[in-house]
Amino acid sequence: MGDFSYKDIYIEDGRRVLEVNILPEKHCNFDCIFCPIGRSQNKVDTQKSFNKIDSSLTELGSMIENTKAELIFINSSGEALVNDKIDDVISLIKDKGLSVRLLSNGYLLGRDEYIKIANKCDEVIGEIKVITEEDFQKVQRPIEGYTIEEYISNMVSFNKQYKGKFIFEITIIRGYNDDEESIEKIKNIIKEISPNKIIITRMEDERFKKKLGITDERFEEISNILLNI
Ligand code: SF4
Repeated sequence: MGDFSYKDIYIEDGRRVLEVNILPEKHCNFDCIFCPIGRSQNKVDTQKSFNKIDSSLTELGSMIENTKAELIFINSSGEALVNDKIDDVISLIKDKGLSVRLLSNGYLLGRDEYIKIANKCDEVIGEIKVITEEDFQKVQRPIEGYTIEEYISNMVSFNKQYKGKFIFEITIIRGYNDDEESIEKIKNIIKEISPNKIIITRMEDERFKKKLGITDERFEEISNILLNI
């Protein structure tokens, strides 16, 4: 048994999607207060080795064969780029002629070593959850020295050179980015990044929904604005 974990296969736009988590436990460069996985005991932005990588890769190969997956979605417990074998994971998938989608929070997409890896993926998802420096530090609690300005510019510069499909996921959070001024700022960020696809989401986790969730009406209103620029 390897260290990777999987979700049940599902169909998306006619393709069989297999989601794989390549981190045995949470490793992230942020420590968001609303993280569904819990606290970041391992706040990290450099790569590290994990045990059982050979058996994990073998198991991934079998999972792909058995499920007849067509798109492999690397959706991990934190920032998948910090697994030092992520390149091998992507190569294994690409060697089978299949597509890879990588979820990253987007901050590391400004660093050369990670740009090279992300460029091998057919689709990359980058995210944004708050838009002021103060909120970024307060609720996403990144590694020291990170700034929201650099966060956004990392995704902008990444997508300028990226040939694949860049998906930008925006989470609307009550009290943080659901007012008119924030929506205007988000519009400008979208224009700067120029993603191929935008996903608007909100706090759905029951633990945070009451405090940070927005109403269906407001969600629809904001989605209409942001998806139609
Ligand atoms: S970026 Fe995602 S995985 Fe990392 S701490 Fe925040 S919510 Fe959790």
